[in-house]
Amino acid sequence: MQAKLIQLSRQQIQRHSYIFVIFAVAIFSAALIGIFTRPLAYSAFFWPANPVFLGLLIRFPRMRTASALWGAFSGYMIADLLTGNGLALAFILTMTNFVAVLSTISILVYIQNQFKYFKDGPQIIYPYIFALILGTLIGSTFAVNTIPYVPGTFMSKTQLLVDFTNWWSGEFLNAVIVLPLVLAFPKLIEIKHFFINKRSRSFNPFDALPFIAVILSMILTHSYYGPGALLYPLATLVWAASIYSLFNIAIINSFVCLTLYHSVSYLYLYDTTNSFLKEITSIRIGLAILGLATIVLCIISQNRKLLFKEIYYLANHDTLTDTMNRRSFIRLSEQRLTSKKYKEACFLMLDIDFFKKLNDNYGHHAGDIVLKKFADIVKENLRSEDLFCRHGGEEFVVLLSNVDKEEALMIAERIRVQLSETFIHIEQENPIKITVSMGVTHTYLPSRLELQQLINTADQALYRAKDSGRNCVVLA
Ligand code: GH3
Ligand code: MG
Ligand code: MG
Repeated sequence: MQAKLIQLSRQQIQRHSYIFVIFAVAIFSAALIGIFTRPLAYSAFFWPANPVFLGLLIRFPRMRTASALWGAFSGYMIADLLTGNGLALAFILTMTNFVAVLSTISILVYIQNQFKYFKDGPQIIYPYIFALILGTLIGSTFAVNTIPYVPGTFMSKTQLLVDFTNWWSGEFLNAVIVLPLVLAFPKLIEIKHFFINKRSRSFNPFDALPFIAVILSMILTHSYYGPGALLYPLATLVWAASIYSLFNIAIINSFVCLTLYHSVSYLYLYDTTNSFLKEITSIRIGLAILGLATIVLCIISQNRKLLFKEIYYLANHDTLTDTMNRRSFIRLSEQRLTSKKYKEACFLMLDIDFFKKLNDNYGHHAGDIVLKKFADIVKENLRSEDLFCRHGGEEFVVLLSNVDKEEALMIAERIRVQLSETFIHIEQENPIKITVSMGVTHTYLPSRLELQQLINTADQALYRAKDSGRNCVVLA
């Protein structure tokens, strides 16, 4: 008992040390990236540490522990102290970051708990936007009320409103640039699948076009810079967002926002004015809105694609047995009968024996369970490229491509035997067994007969199977 407790607490300590290290390293590295990209982004505006901290807390609810907070605290403090800030200023800056991040996550959790329906569809993003705006406003309020009063500060007490908007716009833009990257970062298993499926996936050069267009629009912002440059990438971003995945868009978005920030604030403003602060704030707000719009559009587009896929599947399949419906079977079979890829084909017509009696004895619900089980057994005996369709009621049809008569009979016989030997469990009833009768027809391709004629031939063979006592296979 005691040994178990010791082991348990050891595991706990190990888990908390992991969480501490993850947060400390993540925040410290993100802070360093912010510091090293300072010259690129002109002023110290790019500060990915806060959205990384927030993103980790959102993505891994089980890591929301005191160890995470201590880890983040160490990450912020060490980065600040290393870059020359005094202890008091480093502490206040760290507290500012904490106030912004923790208020954002608290607001987000509160909204998501209050409004469960936000979990589905594109509206999933609204709580994030609301929580981010409010959380960064709270963080900025804290910043302008503390930072100007610490020794070694860089913020003056004379223009608090300007500092406030400047601070807030920076925080908000940072979140728009970095948070989607953290939240949409692929899971380990998705990365594995990506590399496993890499060979089988064909690369379509047209898929690269939106990306190339984005790059061209970015080059334009550098070669012909001015206030209008904020809108140069709009059309290309819309194009990309309607095609690429959320993570890819998050990358493109960060790249576009950082490049645009550079071309509008550094190249353009440097030419025209020396009173940066107000203009910079306006540029940041403009960029944040552009980035946000791109992310929202991408989520809407992905959601639409997902829904279309779902509805397309439902429109082409039977919901009870998860087999093709007649409409899609006819369409795909006709394609196969005329395609040069196939030399021959076989149709199997299957009809469950005495199904009406089964319904009468055990009820319709039992009949449904049997239909599902029947379809599963047939599927087990087919290749993935074979077409399997519920033709109606308890009657099914299969198209085997590039399969000769003997093979088709073998497959049919295998299904028949397996089915006749399988016990089907129907809730409280004793398990039952069923049998199936089958008609088979073979044709060389291209066929002289129409699809319907081939199906009719298989159907006639099925009738003969029924006449000769059922539970058998007859070749047309
Ligand atoms: P046979 O051996 O000659 O094929 O006899 P049978 O009773 O199987 O044939 P029949 O065509 O007379 O009956 C088919 C029955 O299938 C009638 C219908 O109520 C039932 N049926 C059709 N669709 C469904 C369904 O979706 N669920 C259930 N439970 N029964 C269905
Ligand atoms: Mg039947
Ligand atoms: Mg029937």
